[in-house]
Amino acid sequence: MRCAIIADIHANLEAFTAVLEDIRKRGGVEEVWCLGDIVGYGPDPHECVDLMRRQKHIAVAGNHDLAAIGKITTDQFNPQAAAAVEWTIRQLSQSDVNYLLSLPLVVEKDDFTLVHGSPRAPIWEYITSTQIASENLLHFETPYCLFGHSHTPVTFRCQENGDCVLQLLEEETMLALGRERLLANPGGVGQPRDGDPRASYAIFDREEKAIRFHRVAYHIANTQAKMLKHKLPSSLITRLSFGL
Ligand code: ZN
Repeated sequence: MRCAIIADIHANLEAFTAVLEDIRKRGGVEEVWCLGDIVGYGPDPHECVDLMRRQKHIAVAGNHDLAAIGKITTDQFNPQAAAAVEWTIRQLSQSDVNYLLSLPLVVEKDDFTLVHGSPRAPIWEYITSTQIASENLLHFETPYCLFGHSHTPVTFRCQENGDCVLQLLEEETMLALGRERLLANPGGVGQPRDGDPRASYAIFDREEKAIRFHRVAYHIANTQAKMLKHKLPSSLITRLSFGL
């Protein structure tokens, strides 16, 4: 049994399509696990929701998903992100909205807890330090947690005393799942922020008891051209070139 772990697609259909193709080339998976933010920032929110719904998948909601359906306000978004949310709201069909409304904030699946931000605060909290990772150990019961939101492939391996160690995950790193509790982020599909513009995702292999991290090049210029056409904020367009 293999599952793809993906997060932060952000309405980037080119990146999402390239990741699905890469998964297929690697022999496919039984299920896609999505850690939220299917929409927001990018030019193809409807198409990305539609493509996700055609996968056998489970998904949790991200802050951009919830803002795009009016479940949270954009008060805590920066002006560019808020502008993209306003545009996104106008692109979604009622069926897209209903689907996003149906997404839970937390899902427990096998040995994993799936969230967008963190187990403690699934919508907003960024797990960016060993301190935050350690505090979050009290907020999930499974051995492992999968999260997104920071758009960076990273893991926090935690000892029984709660001390956690941060490891940035290079392409093709294999993360062995043992007795240690850990929290892992597959990185962002549609808006990576670790300085590598390629889409980032991971595959969990139950037999191997491991998660392997992958990077996939995609047609960034095509995504940017669509964003330009829709007059999305220029800073959101340029950042895709740099993975920032
Ligand atoms: Zn995001």
